[in-house]
Amino acid sequence: MNSLKQRAYNFNAGPSALPLTVLEKAKEELVDFRGTGMSVMELSHRSAVYEEVHNHAIALLKELLSIPEDYEVLFLQGGGSLQFSMVPMNYLKPGEKAGYIMTGSWSEKAFSEAKLFGDPYHVASTQEGQYRRIPKFDELRYNPTDAYIHLTSNNTIYGTQWRDFPDTGDVPLIADMSSDILSKPIDVNKFSLLYAGAQKNLGPSGVTVAIIRKDMIEKGNPAIPTMLKYSTHAKNNSLYNTPPTFGIYMLGEVLSWIKDLGGIHALSERNEEKAKLIYDAIDQSSGFYVGHAEVESRSLMNITFRVSDEDLEKKFLAEAKIEGFVGVNGHRSVGGCRASTYNAVPFETCKAFSEFMVHFQSANQ
Ligand SMILES: *Cc1c(COP(=O)(O)O)cnc(C)c1O
Repeated sequence: MNSLKQRAYNFNAGPSALPLTVLEKAKEELVDFRGTGMSVMELSHRSAVYEEVHNHAIALLKELLSIPEDYEVLFLQGGGSLQFSMVPMNYLKPGEKAGYIMTGSWSEKAFSEAKLFGDPYHVASTQEGQYRRIPKFDELRYNPTDAYIHLTSNNTIYGTQWRDFPDTGDVPLIADMSSDILSKPIDVNKFSLLYAGAQKNLGPSGVTVAIIRKDMIEKGNPAIPTMLKYSTHAKNNSLYNTPPTFGIYMLGEVLSWIKDLGGIHALSERNEEKAKLIYDAIDQSSGFYVGHAEVESRSLMNITFRVSDEDLEKKFLAEAKIEGFVGVNGHRSVGGCRASTYNAVPFETCKAFSEFMVHFQSANQ
């Protein structure tokens, strides 16, 4: 099939590729987890064996992302999408303002939910240029009295990514990091809360990670349902109710895989090399391929581009499929092509795709 044998060249935008070694380990442990005679899915979430899995995942995430002592790691459900509601439900009261930095479709969805609770407004928006870029810090105008500022660190659909984050002082900064969490080092101290569905960079779908500063936990609105309060999950080590145990186990195994690779710095270098292979094919194509994002705003996770001729683009996508590349179509809302090069996507997959791009160009120009 391809140089990865039975494994597809998987560029899916989410859920997406998982490390082969993690899948194989899960298979090995599936019916008898560490001598229990049960699958990890069959264990009580109150058992010592499961608790070790749970706490191991939390500890490893803290270690790999250098999460400071005054933060808690929470495992939630409902995906990034429920966080769009949980954030304003906890932190935005009627009549209060919250600033949203609009960089794509996911920012728009987050903004719509906030309107149900208070008065969100656009701190900046790059919609006019079809979300081709991340705003510069000096374009960000917000009020010191805002309940919080919200941003999307990586724009999965448009293929743009923040390189560095603004310092918002006393105004809490909240980030949706669903599509680039743990792909590179970040300064967690800049954020009061950050969240991510696991299924792009961390593991399977069904687990959502939130990293929250302790002083934020108690600031949440008390008059909301128990399950939707960050404080409920923080007080109970994310074991208030039954957590998605298998997903958390897989997440822990993905984190161990990252640690074995050499941690976040090694992973980040690998991600840069992977993305460069594909961006080089675009940049050296003399306009045959056209990148969507402005160069300074390019994402290292989702590489969005078009083939300059529309008919050739159809042919490109059809041939990519025949060659075994999966998930290369752009998001249904924007079209074009997209290669998602998340943490677990192998270097060889990116290399094979960049070679395919070069060959396709020379055969069709
Ligand atoms: C995929 C994605 C989401 C939605 O995540 P779900 O877990 O499907 O709710 C939100 N934000 C960003 C940036 C995403 O890439």
